Amino acid sequence: MSNNPRYDKLAEHIGHNVVVVTYGDGENVAIECEDCCTVLVDEDREIEIEDESLDANIHREVEDWRAWDAEQALRQEHDSTCSGTLQPPVLAGIDLWVCDVCSFAVKGGAK
Ligand SMILES: [Zn+2]
Ligand SMILES: [Zn+2]
Repeated sequence: MSNNPRYDKLAEHIGHNVVVVTYGDGENVAIECEDCCTVLVDEDREIEIEDESLDANIHREVEDWRAWDAEQALRQEHDSTCSGTLQPPVLAGIDLWVCDVCSFAVKGGAK
């Protein structure tokens, strides 16, 4: 015995004839114990894909867009109130445009 029901469920079949079979024209595949006529593990071929990473990517893109929008709004506000020009990033890897007149800085100027 263990504290894991799945372990116990499988351990019951140690030494039994275990086979892999498919059902419904391969729609489903199962590992079965022939001795007990019991399905140990089964999987469907087609599953509903709830890809959280995809969601997260889309979410991140939306967030990026919002952030970029906000930066652009700041930039426009600056441009309408300051005569300075935003200078391209000077440090590699740091996407920060800095005004040559005031100290205004904005990200994503080159996007
Ligand atoms: Zn068995
Ligand atoms: Zn400025």
